[in-house]
Amino acid sequence: LAPTPYYFTQPREARLLLHKRERYSNKGTFGHALLLAGSFGKMGAAVLSARACLRSGVGLLTVHVPQCGYPILQSSVPEAMCQPDGHQTVLTGTSRISSTPPSEYSTVGIGPGIGKAPETLTMLRELLPTIKKPMVIDADALNLLSENRELYAQIPKHSILTPHPKEFERLTKPWKDDYEKLDLLRDFAKTHKLVVVLKGAYSAVATPDGEVHFNATGNPGLSTGGTGDVLTGVLTALLAQGYDPVEAAVLGVYAHGLAGDVVASQRGPIGMTASDVVDALRWE
Ligand code: AMP
Ligand code: MG
Repeated sequence: LAPTPYYFTQPREARLLLHKRERYSNKGTFGHALLLAGSFGKMGAAVLSARACLRSGVGLLTVHVPQCGYPILQSSVPEAMCQPDGHQTVLTGTSRISSTPPSEYSTVGIGPGIGKAPETLTMLRELLPTIKKPMVIDADALNLLSENRELYAQIPKHSILTPHPKEFERLTKPWKDDYEKLDLLRDFAKTHKLVVVLKGAYSAVATPDGEVHFNATGNPGLSTGGTGDVLTGVLTALLAQGYDPVEAAVLGVYAHGLAGDVVASQRGPIGMTASDVVDALRWE
């Protein structure tokens, strides 16, 4: 029987991927992540993502938000440093208080709640060529890319993209059945040398080598606003800690779904919130 490129993440494998917390460590050991998130009316996405990042072991976290999000972030996530954008309501990338360029962080996560303002597209255009390491790209950052496909070539190789099916359709094209969807997913990840997490029940992690890792944790309780933003924070934290991008995606998707299963086992899937999922994250 010829080997197939399809894998199914088992609990034992996920546990083997987990890095031990080094004893002689300090916060520098676990990386400094930069998260670009939020816009007026969508600051919750930035808060959830930042909290999830901190709950996933990052050493230090800076969150870049529009000015309107500054007091929100500082009071709801005191552990994170907050860097206000030059713009009041959307991201433009011009920082007023920090001169550290995004390329100097261990990794960058972008997307939750950012919207699709023209200024934000300009920021994304300027940002991508400066980042030389794998990053995490989600939500409206993906939608901006799909509307400006010439930018695909600028995405750092082995970055993790986390589209839900609608976002993936925008990035590629409509499919007629699940087989075609899976082919599109493998092709997209291979062609652009990316790790692509197609989210949903049984999220599929496609690798730059054409493998697909299916994930079985998670439940319909996760079908609620903000849970995707939580996943972005988780994956950003893992990359910041030095995880290989494929391992980060497989482990992060598994742990995120497992957190959802823990919440469901305690109070049932109905009425689960993204904040519950953050609180249920466990790394052991
Ligand atoms: P988003 O659509 O960006 O908010 O992301 C939703 C998150 O919840 C993704 O991580 C999905 O994999 C997860 N999710 C949503 N619905 C389900 C489901 N029915 N079963 C398992 N996971 C789900
Ligand atoms: Mg989302």
